[in-house]
Amino acid sequence: MPHKMRAVYPGSFDPITLGHLDIITRLSPMYDEFIVLIANSPEKSYLFSAQERVELVKKSVKNFKNVKVDIFDGLTVDYAKSKKADVIIRGLRAVSDFEYEFAMANMNKTLNPEVETLIVFTHPEYSHIASRMVKEVAFYNGELKGLVPQVVVEALKNRIIKKGKKA
Ligand code: ADP
Repeated sequence: MPHKMRAVYPGSFDPITLGHLDIITRLSPMYDEFIVLIANSPEKSYLFSAQERVELVKKSVKNFKNVKVDIFDGLTVDYAKSKKADVIIRGLRAVSDFEYEFAMANMNKTLNPEVETLIVFTHPEYSHIASRMVKEVAFYNGELKGLVPQVVVEALKNRIIKKGKKA
């Protein structure tokens, strides 16, 4: 059987934004399987649980037949190896993202030389969108349309009201 080309797109996705979705839309057709990998680091605190983040991604990508969603709390390269994935996809919004992505790609290359990191420039329309800022906008009741998928608009509103605005 020919080797399936697999890509892993790792991140917090807390929550998924239109910027993430744009990367998934543009890159997933290039692979047989495209896995959105939700990081669940015990060191980080998230607004949405890993399971909630998975559900929000799943609902946002339901029309993409080759996109899978998974949770992992280890090193992305170990996950990539276990799934026989070829490529780790990361997005680059601005120069400020560069050093972190560069360091991470080099570390991953050292840990597993067989996995490539592919850095993709964000669509200019989405380069200002970051999950952290989206949460801030939601907290102050700002307009979320144009920043996140509709399911996330609703989830953010519910979560922030429920938390008594302690986002
Ligand atoms: P992390 O905590 O790993 O940075 P994020 O969920 O913030 O997780 O981001 C996951 C990946 O998506 C990263 O490569 C990030 O650069 C990319 N990304 C984040 N926001 C955008 C956006 N607006 N457009 C394109 N890529 C983005």
